[in-house]
Amino acid sequence: MDHAAHNILRFRDVTVRYGATTALEHVTVSIPCGSLTAIVGPNGAGKSTLLRSILGWHPLETGEIRIGDTHTEHLLPRLAYLPQRQTIDWDFPITVRGVVEQGRYPALRWYQRMGSEDQNRVSRALAELDISELADRQIRMLSGGQQQRVFLARALAQGADIFLLDEPFAGLDLHATDELAHILHAWEAQGRTVLAVVHDLALARAHFRQAVLLNRQLIASGPIEAALTPANIDAAYRGGRCVHDDPLRLTRTAHFPE
Ligand code: ADP
Ligand code: MG
Repeated sequence: MDHAAHNILRFRDVTVRYGATTALEHVTVSIPCGSLTAIVGPNGAGKSTLLRSILGWHPLETGEIRIGDTHTEHLLPRLAYLPQRQTIDWDFPITVRGVVEQGRYPALRWYQRMGSEDQNRVSRALAELDISELADRQIRMLSGGQQQRVFLARALAQGADIFLLDEPFAGLDLHATDELAHILHAWEAQGRTVLAVVHDLALARAHFRQAVLLNRQLIASGPIEAALTPANIDAAYRGGRCVHDDPLRLTRTAHFPE
């Protein structure tokens, strides 16, 4: 295998089903590491499933996901996942530092406490995301943009270099959106890899280099302008998600901003 292949995240023929629902069907796509990739597609297209399957959370009915020779489920320390906002309990009583420290837990044995190197990593992550001052605040006291940065700091503290972000821009105001875009650009400049589900196509175009356009099957992928052509977008969004085995999902996707 040539060296470059070690730096490519490859989905080969990936199929994931939840009972009768097919979330991903024979998806084959290569995503270069070290850049920002937007995952785009209508509701129910399998975008979240695509991210979580990289973590090995869903059994693959067919196919495999690798970086170089290695199945991604064996690369968990390199992979950080930020779930969709509504799946996080923002009222949970925990401080900013407490959340960021969670990033170190996978690296610790059950009998170990956080050591000074762990504490250093936590402090560096807080500083990089400019939230050191907020370390002792409860997360429920923060703005949406600040909460987002807390979870990005947790991912950094983990020592990950591949970041899987599920709708990170959802619910952010303009200022927080700009801040997040700025952080992601800085990460890209450092050679980090970001795969982010992005709903707003204008945002995707403005900030991402690559795109994967999905509607259960792969519709298009590659440099963002080449992937998100009007014809490709139409193919992905036409009729919403057309799923014959799930009649409740035959409703058209509402107006798409394009
Ligand atoms: P997206 O993130 O693009 O909206 P998802 O990956 O969340 O899509 O879901 C793809 C399809 O799989 C949808 O039809 C969804 O209802 C279904 N699905 C997702 N997660 C589950 C689950 N845990 N159990 C059953 N069906 C699921
Ligand atoms: Mg989703």
